[in-house]
Amino acid sequence: MTDFAATKAMFYLPEGMIYLDGNSLGPLPKAAEARVARTITAEWGEKVITGWNRAGWMAQPTALGDRIARLIGAEPGHVVLGDTLSIKVYQALAAAIDLVPDRKVILTDNGNFPSDIYMAEGLIKSLGRGHELRVVDPQDVENHINDDLAVLMLTQVDYRTGRLHDMADLTAKVHAVGAVASWDLAHTAGAMAVDLKGCNADFAVGCTYKYLNAGPGAPAFIYVSPRHINTCQPALSGWLGHEAPFAFDLDYRPGTGIERMRVGTPSVLQMAALDASLDIWDQVDMDDLRTASIALTEQFIAGIEAQCPMLTLASSRNPQERGSQVSFAFEHGYAAMQACIARNVVGDFRAPNIMRFGFCPLFIDASDVDAAINVITDVMTNRLWDHPDYKRVSRVT
Ligand SMILES: *Cc1c(COP(=O)(O)O)cnc(C)c1O
Repeated sequence: MTDFAATKAMFYLPEGMIYLDGNSLGPLPKAAEARVARTITAEWGEKVITGWNRAGWMAQPTALGDRIARLIGAEPGHVVLGDTLSIKVYQALAAAIDLVPDRKVILTDNGNFPSDIYMAEGLIKSLGRGHELRVVDPQDVENHINDDLAVLMLTQVDYRTGRLHDMADLTAKVHAVGAVASWDLAHTAGAMAVDLKGCNADFAVGCTYKYLNAGPGAPAFIYVSPRHINTCQPALSGWLGHEAPFAFDLDYRPGTGIERMRVGTPSVLQMAALDASLDIWDQVDMDDLRTASIALTEQFIAGIEAQCPMLTLASSRNPQERGSQVSFAFEHGYAAMQACIARNVVGDFRAPNIMRFGFCPLFIDASDVDAAINVITDVMTNRLWDHPDYKRVSRVT
């Protein structure tokens, strides 16, 4: 059994704060501070350029990828870290399109994160081969899986509502029509167990600054199935994805295995923070995590619905159909969330009217949920949000 009291003690959180936004930016693993400091002084400071070999910097993207692989059910050697998630979305989609050259439809849903859609639009434009991005309602996705389909590109857990797609079922349907599937795990990796191998996923991408707690700007990851890794063509053909980067050939040849999905110089300091975070994740059983997460979200929904009738549940009521976050719709959601944050209950707001709360059992327990319900109830029943201070919209919401 995972000891969640022990994992909670491994995170730093500001005094008195109930942090329900680990789905947006995970909190600081206490060990990350010393780990990053050591990388700066003992590695960057003392080893300078030799750190690439002597401190293992160059091997970090795949070494850390293997540790993430366990959390997402990937085969070892098939996950690599680097760049940002938007870049990895582009890379996966470009490689996927290439595998189905005679079809033109890329299917996604309107619950997908805008950056994924923007990256697809940009890729289609630069390819100039007449691809069509078909954006449908989440519940209609399967009705559009037919013989025209080239690539299904979905985010498994909806960032706004937490609605969960059935990866195994949709991927099987996609394969049955001869297409491929690329999954974005931004709100799944570290939120629940994923079984990429069992689902026969073709490509997957995700980030490490949300549930994986590696800090702002931490690198993204990409997974390519063993079925495709030696045939897929990297569209972003940077030198570190080359077969022999230090041969400095003028012709690009893709590297062996997942190495080919690397692009340029990895973010070493940020990966030191990820390393510290994964030390905590190494102690977590993903089935225990899901059980604990469902208990917390059920407790939260029951408490809020009992006390705050003005809030409307925007997430699925069925825990099997949602990720590790709960969203409520409220007309004055932005101001209400600011009022909660001012009282140390931190969630976030997603336009147009969604108050979003993330539940990560690694550092949130049942007593935190009770305390959060009390604060939110106070804000709602006493209209504490109805104050000009809470209505000024910041750059980041
Ligand atoms: C958070 C998130 C992103 C953000 O992409 P970055 O390039 O890391 O800023 C993209 N897609 C999804 C689905 C996300 O949830």
